[in-house]
Amino acid sequence: MTHYGDYTQRQTGMYRITTMLNDAQAVQAIATCRHKSFCLKRRLWTVEGLPTDYVTEKSLIPCLEPCALLLEFARKAMRIEQQPKLELSMDDMATIVRALQTALKHPALEVREADFNAPDSPRRICLVLEKLQTALKLASPMETE
Ligand code: SF4
Repeated sequence: MTHYGDYTQRQTGMYRITTMLNDAQAVQAIATCRHKSFCLKRRLWTVEGLPTDYVTEKSLIPCLEPCALLLEFARKAMRIEQQPKLELSMDDMATIVRALQTALKHPALEVREADFNAPDSPRRICLVLEKLQTALKLASPMETE
């Protein structure tokens, strides 16, 4: 079965950067991009730390290797990782989480599915949410679900 690391190692040019995501970053990007709200294909290719898709949550159509959309999303995710980071308080993070959850319920209709340069791309919003929720859980495991 295809593995994310092996597949991205074979990429050249602009997609070579997708090899630079570490396992945790790759899992966040893949989990977001293949989420059932965005893609109903059942992912059968692998990456450390993320089980393949369960048949109960996806269609029977198999996904045997990362698609062009996934590669583009992984490329953008790595570009974002390379940017300088800002510090936020936990309460500010919680506010942003709530705002992003609201934004996901009212997605911008004019954003094209593969336009990951758009800050309001639903997949990008999901990726930020995932990062913030993970950070909040790590910072305060007793206070968050
Ligand atoms: S690689 Fe593409 S087609 Fe396959 S599960 Fe992910 S988003 Fe869907």
